[in-house]
Amino acid sequence: MGPAQAQPSDNPLLSISPLPLQYPQFDKLRDEHFAPALERGMAEQLAEIQVIADNPEAPTFDNTIVAWEKSGRLLNRATTLLFSLLGADANPARQQLQTDYAAKLAAQRDAVLLNPKLFARVEALYVQRDTAAPNPEAKRLIERYRRDMLRAGAQLNDAQKTRMKAINGELATLTARFNKAVLAEVNDSAIVVDSAEELAGLSQAQIAAAADSAKKRGLDGKYLIALLNTTIQPFETDLQNRAVRERLHRASVARGARGNEFDARAIVSRVMTLRQERAALLGYATPAAFVLEEETAKSADTVNALLRQLAPAAMASARLEALELQKLIDSEQAAKKLPSFALQAWDWSYYAEKLRAAKYGFDESQLKPYLELTSVLEKGVFYAANQLYGISFKRRMDLPVYRDDVRVYDVFDTDGKQLAIFIADLYARPSKRGGAWANAYVGQNALEGTSPVVANHLNIPKPPAGEPTLLTWDEVNTMFHEFGHALHGMFNKSRYPGLTRVPRDFVEYPSQVNEVWADWPSVLANYAKHYKTGAPMPRELLDKVSRAKRFNQGYTTVSYLSAAIVDQRLHQLKAGEIPAAEGIVDFEAKVLKEEGIDFGPVPPRYKLPYFSHIMGGYSAGYYAYIWSEVLDADTVEWLKAKGGLKRANGDQLRAKMLSRGGSEDAMQLFRNLVGHEPDIKPLLERRGLAVQKP
Ligand SMILES: [Zn+2]
Repeated sequence: MGPAQAQPSDNPLLSISPLPLQYPQFDKLRDEHFAPALERGMAEQLAEIQVIADNPEAPTFDNTIVAWEKSGRLLNRATTLLFSLLGADANPARQQLQTDYAAKLAAQRDAVLLNPKLFARVEALYVQRDTAAPNPEAKRLIERYRRDMLRAGAQLNDAQKTRMKAINGELATLTARFNKAVLAEVNDSAIVVDSAEELAGLSQAQIAAAADSAKKRGLDGKYLIALLNTTIQPFETDLQNRAVRERLHRASVARGARGNEFDARAIVSRVMTLRQERAALLGYATPAAFVLEEETAKSADTVNALLRQLAPAAMASARLEALELQKLIDSEQAAKKLPSFALQAWDWSYYAEKLRAAKYGFDESQLKPYLELTSVLEKGVFYAANQLYGISFKRRMDLPVYRDDVRVYDVFDTDGKQLAIFIADLYARPSKRGGAWANAYVGQNALEGTSPVVANHLNIPKPPAGEPTLLTWDEVNTMFHEFGHALHGMFNKSRYPGLTRVPRDFVEYPSQVNEVWADWPSVLANYAKHYKTGAPMPRELLDKVSRAKRFNQGYTTVSYLSAAIVDQRLHQLKAGEIPAAEGIVDFEAKVLKEEGIDFGPVPPRYKLPYFSHIMGGYSAGYYAYIWSEVLDADTVEWLKAKGGLKRANGDQLRAKMLSRGGSEDAMQLFRNLVGHEPDIKPLLERRGLAVQKP
């Protein structure tokens, strides 16, 4: 903090934003506003909690739980903005704030959840919850708060609480360091090539963008291929030069384990040791047991059973796919009178794309001209939501954004009233973390009367100026997926904000269901138009898209499952079993072998030194995607049986699931909607895995 520190009156975080729906004042916000807002926010919240804890009146739902729900508004505003911007647009100042405040914020959380007087009040309400709660949601909320406190360690003795606080502080600092290291490694591992010839297979626009990126790093005349955080890099599909593909791939998988200052292996090992100790303090055998208790899966056994049921089927498919790719390589090499070579990880996407072209008569590049970004968003994603739920969208240009390429839309409900504001931040930038995600800047809150401001974040490579943004089919699906999360946030009608949260292995379910509309014929016909001519995507190309849906599913499933299995096995380790830093990479290899899912040409989607999901909120939770997909595939069957894209179906989805948040048991919400227990068969059929015998 120096002379540049802002006066409190300038600080937009210190008051409720006057913009519509309390939309953040990105234009007035400066990085030096965060520290004073966080400091004041933490102090305010502690004071508010102390008033609740010290209240001489007997505990009631209102004077304890509702008062708690209303506390910490400033802190919430400041942290929401800081962490949203750290994900979407990090800079050194924000990263420093994350480092500075990680442990303090963890301590803040502990100071609230481990407050003994507060716990006594919650416990008293819990005991008499049948009479103390004015309604069923209130009863659920009392249970929710009590469980949060118990899981934080509210029943531990003082020495144990002190240790717990130290563990949480160190974990928070380590997670911040891990995130910073992952971003640094992604940027640092970009590969530089000397000539455009080596980039044969990329489009002119992509080559121009690579030249541009090189120039920005002072490498005039060279070409820079930036990385994404997944193991497989998108350009491995297009690059004809095998040596360049291999370089790109090796640069990708080496991340986080190169012995430089961003080596993340020691962080992973230490995080796991601390999670282990925390689980033990709370009486759980493993970190996985601690995490899974809160999930719909409930136990490690259930998760292991699902993963082990899927793994052999997926491996059998992947091996068959590999054989086909090898045949293609052999015949191509023979035609060129060159010796053949064995399929490697850096060959898979490239030859799979060729095989897709041969088998189904199209490749991605034929699709792209029909998948222009604005059309996909407004005439695809929004159109489907309009047809299904009756909501409508209008772009607005008057609200401030943190980057020029971020778009803002008003969302109107069926009655024409404003439902939400939607922020579409779709382009990749070096300051953005990898992957795609959704978040809320302002949540629906019935107690405060706020409506949602929700955002979607993708990493779509930006074309050179003047060129249209043409998407891959994968990116189209991701747009529909992330918008499913946005709908879940926009439709939320929980009576209490504390009941918004749903289990992690449920949260991907509504978003995955929303993917079904990406190639729904009437939706596709509405958005998939040639960006130059406006001609609709030809029917036969469209049919090929649907026929090719199961193509490469063995590969996709193995790459995902292997990462999910490593996550589980790591979090199911007991005390004394956590590998040291230098053993992290070997541990992963050993697990893959033991689980029969080690297959060189199909590496895990993320390797441990850059597996951000599991160092953050998805610890012991990466299985959640396929778990949710069981529910999703089953729900899609239900939707199809009911006639698909119709208001009646949308109304059901909204009333029984999307508006309910965590107001009721998640699996009950599923049963209320679909009318039966989840069935794994639709998922197996969708991925073409049912017919395979291991
Ligand atoms: Zn998602």
